[in-house]
Amino acid sequence: MRTILMGPPGAGKGTQAAVLVDRFHIPHISTGDMFRAAMKAGTPLGLKAKEYMEAGALVPDDVTIGIVAERLSQEDCANGFLLDGFPRTVAQADALGKILAKLGIRLDGVLNLRVDEEKLLARLTGRRVCRKCGATYHTLFNPPAQAGVCNECGGELYQRADDTLETAKNRLAVYNAQTEPLIQYYRNLGLLKEVEGDQEIDMVLQNILVALGQAV
Ligand SMILES: [Zn+2]
Repeated sequence: MRTILMGPPGAGKGTQAAVLVDRFHIPHISTGDMFRAAMKAGTPLGLKAKEYMEAGALVPDDVTIGIVAERLSQEDCANGFLLDGFPRTVAQADALGKILAKLGIRLDGVLNLRVDEEKLLARLTGRRVCRKCGATYHTLFNPPAQAGVCNECGGELYQRADDTLETAKNRLAVYNAQTEPLIQYYRNLGLLKEVEGDQEIDMVLQNILVALGQAV
C-alpha cells in the first residue's frame, strides 16, 4: 500500500496510521521522524536540515524533498509506505509527484479522514487534567467516574489552556486554510479518497481499504 494520510487534528489519524502500518507491514513515514533519522545518520541533506533547524529557520523545500526522496528509496519502502504530514503544500506535492514518477511508484490514493467540525471540537477540547496528581481524562473517550473529579486521588480536574475551544477552533482554521489547496490538488488528480473518520476504528479501516482498492 502506497498512500498519503491526511486529516485534521482530532480526526484519529495517528490511530489509523498505526493500524495500517501494522496490517501492511509498511513504514509510517512522518516528516519529523524522517528529519531526525537523516540528521542522526549524518547524510548531507540531514546535515543541511540540521543547520536550518538549529538556526530556528524553516527547512527549505528542496532539502525536505531530497530527504523524502532518500527515504522512499530505502529498502523497507519496497512494499509500500504511509506518508504522514508530507506533503504540506502544493509545491511539495508537485515535487513528490516527480520523485514518485522517477522511482516508478504509483500512489494507491491519498486518504483524507473527515470528521465533522463540531465533533472535532468536542474531541479536541475534552482533555481534563488532575490538579493534584496529573492524571489525564477525556470527557468523551475516558471520562472520570464523577465529572470534574479525579478517580485516583479525588483532586479537581481542569482544562489546560491549549485545550480550550478557542485554541481548538484556531488550530482547525489554520489546518483548513493550509490544507484546502492540497486537497483540491489531489482531487483534481483523481487521487483523493475521502473517508468518514467518525466511526468505530474498525469501520474506518474497512472504508480505507475499500477506498484504496485493497482486500478487506
Ligand atoms: Zn488525581
